[in-house]
Amino acid sequence: MIYKKLDKYDRDFDEERCAKYVTNQNGWGGHQCLREGKLEYKGHLYCKQHYPPNVEAKRKAKADKYAERWAKVDAADERRRLEVEYCSGLTDEELRGDTR
Ligand SMILES: [Zn+2]
Repeated sequence: MIYKKLDKYDRDFDEERCAKYVTNQNGWGGHQCLREGKLEYKGHLYCKQHYPPNVEAKRKAKADKYAERWAKVDAADERRRLEVEYCSGLTDEELRGDTR
């Protein structure tokens, strides 16, 4: 099936299809999402991928994953800072416990 490329503001905007305006892979222009609109949100239909609550859930899941990762990085940084602080002034031999 050949789809005519449509703009969100085009008067040919297809109400039956997903309302999301997607950009072309090359970054020049775009068109209305080609999938059938199945989920209604604020007066427009969306496909499963572009349905705003799904988009938000995906964004949040990603943000939470990164927040968790950065918390681990911060904890490791703090650990290294404490090690440097508590070990300053000691010789390498003292650090190794080699004080014979
Ligand atoms: Zn879509």
